[in-house]
Amino acid sequence: MNASLTPGQTAVQSAKLLINGQWVESQTSEWRDIVNPATQQVLAHVPFATPDEVNAAVAAAHEAFKTWRHTPLGARMRIMLKLQALVREHSKRIALTLSAEQGKTVADAEGDIFRGLEVVEHACSIGTLQMGEFAENVAGGVDTYTLRQPIGVCAGITPFNFPAMIPLWMFPMAIVCGNTFVLKPSEQDPLSTLMLVELALEAGVPPGVLNVVHGGKEVVDAICTHPDIKAVSFVGSTAVGTHVYDLAGRHGKRVQSMMGAKNHAVVLPDANRAQTLNALAGAAFGAAGQRCMATSVAVLVGSTKEWIPELKALAQKLKVNAGSEAGTDVGPVISKRAKERVLSLIASGVEQGATLELDGRDVVVPGYEEGNFVGPTLFSGVTTDMRIYTEEIFGPVLVVLTVDTFDEAIALVNRNPFGNGTGLFTQSGAAARKFQSEIDVGQVGINIPIPVPVPFFSFTGSRGSKLGDLGPYGKQVVQFYTQTKTVTARWFDDDSVNDGVNTTINLR
Ligand code: NAD
Repeated sequence: MNASLTPGQTAVQSAKLLINGQWVESQTSEWRDIVNPATQQVLAHVPFATPDEVNAAVAAAHEAFKTWRHTPLGARMRIMLKLQALVREHSKRIALTLSAEQGKTVADAEGDIFRGLEVVEHACSIGTLQMGEFAENVAGGVDTYTLRQPIGVCAGITPFNFPAMIPLWMFPMAIVCGNTFVLKPSEQDPLSTLMLVELALEAGVPPGVLNVVHGGKEVVDAICTHPDIKAVSFVGSTAVGTHVYDLAGRHGKRVQSMMGAKNHAVVLPDANRAQTLNALAGAAFGAAGQRCMATSVAVLVGSTKEWIPELKALAQKLKVNAGSEAGTDVGPVISKRAKERVLSLIASGVEQGATLELDGRDVVVPGYEEGNFVGPTLFSGVTTDMRIYTEEIFGPVLVVLTVDTFDEAIALVNRNPFGNGTGLFTQSGAAARKFQSEIDVGQVGINIPIPVPVPFFSFTGSRGSKLGDLGPYGKQVVQFYTQTKTVTARWFDDDSVNDGVNTTINLR
């Protein structure tokens, strides 16, 4: 944090707050640099909003809800149609900023935007998604139907690793359901998120319906305790997500926390060898391992332990470089702090007796000597008590465990505290069916290394990877962002027969 930096004193831009349709300069004295992780160039400054600014954003959302909730479905849907067209049009431009502030390759940044865009496309179907149900004649002349009504001001708190996709999981679905929204992007890379918010305003989202505040713990806690916020959607680490779930839950809000991961890929001897090894290398080291769905543990069953040298050879071929350079496979990790943490976990693996097959610690990238690079790192001989197995590393580090049987592999995955994603590599339908039935993990890939569901389904998770019943997109999120009202109705004709007084609970 560099508190001495104020926007007027520096050449770089400051990230603005969005309150009631106006981009405003924060009056805070607390600022943080947004840094290109490949070069350490300061791209902009982000404010940690004051309590008054958070209150102003919530007040704007609270006021806007009074009218927005009555806006016809078609009008809301047409804003989403416009937004999807704008995001598509500006995707390349946003991807360059996203790559610069986050470090991922430009192609992967476009993927980040595209996976969010798919949710905006899904939001365009709100007419059918938000439909209630109707049952005619549940008793004599009585009908019952449900309304799915918006709940009020909702809030979203997002992580650094997908600055486009995850905000797009949240605000489009929330506002298309008739809610208003306060977004708190990651303070590490909010610039591309703000570009998407600008497009939402251009698409016609009215003042106050979407607001943005920046900050860290204090702002998040203010959101979780604000009496006018009805629902909080969080995506980030397990420690923070558990805190948010607890705090916001105690303050009467609906909460969903999508959290950390340790994703296991189980490899059976009958798997397609080349395809499996390519999938493992891509899913472990792509995006520098900073995906919540990255493969971070390979569980090699039986004879597949002989595949380790080939896996190492593939990992060695990956090109570590700045995300802006053509041909890059592995960009930098987000910050110097994140790099130090990854390096210390690698050191712990060596100390605890794992075999370091490939060491990415000393990678130096010519022209980007200051970048936060860690090269692909591969451990074998890993046991479940080692920190490199128990902790989420969130860097380009793959740990390999070997087991004798498929049952042992399933038990191992189910014993891990996280339950975000997993994959099985096999050519056996029976094995795949057993795996999908017995595994206690939210996203399951069968010969698919990163099985992030498309938005007609919902992202989910179990155990230490998710708290809350409903997922962050798909049909489930329509339930999260709406309240069901059940109406039971009867209408009398002028000449209807007088039923007399009914003192029972029964309808007749
Ligand atoms: P993080 O938990 O550090 O930060 C997430 C958000 O919480 C940010 O907006 C941050 O400002 C805020 N925050 C940070 N510390 C806080 C505190 N003490 N109190 C309150 N708020 C706080 O996560 P990150 O490092 O930005 O993102 C990486 C993590 O997110 C990984 O654990 C990854 O697995 C997880 N993730 C999960 C999913 C999923 O869907 N399950 C998706 C993406 C990322």
